[in-house]
Amino acid sequence: MTDETFLLDLLNSTPVVDGTQRDVLDADWLRAHDGTGSTAEWEAAREARDVLQALVRGEAEPDALAPLLDGVVRRPAVTADGVEWTVEVVDSRRPAVRAVLAWDAVHRTSPGRLRPCANDECALFLIDHSKPNKARWCSMAVCGNRMKARRHYERTRNN
Ligand SMILES: [Zn+2]
Repeated sequence: MTDETFLLDLLNSTPVVDGTQRDVLDADWLRAHDGTGSTAEWEAAREARDVLQALVRGEAEPDALAPLLDGVVRRPAVTADGVEWTVEVVDSRRPAVRAVLAWDAVHRTSPGRLRPCANDECALFLIDHSKPNKARWCSMAVCGNRMKARRHYERTRNN
């Protein structure tokens, strides 16, 4: 699993199901995402998720990430392929730190491409890799069609 997929999965761990927001981030989720599922790990991951969600929604500033990276060290090692960076942090904070660093990478290499779904009843996020960068929905099949149907309904109702 790439760091970007991990980040998007974490951001999307509070889906709206049948009109109610759920939280699917638990020990099973963490284990399925290379974690151990410990309580400390879950607490750190949840904190990182909440800050990152607020950040992507424009409700927080990047300095809110500072506590999540406190004490984190990146160490270079020279290999045959070049320089490899290892993140040194206690295991329980690894998923949280991974998400923050993945956010930073997306933010730098694809600015403006990580965003909330334009359906205001949807709590999911998307990373748009298309050239025109105009994707608005987490999923065309779900939110895209739902919003189209709603617009159609509003148009016909107003006529
Ligand atoms: Zn959506």
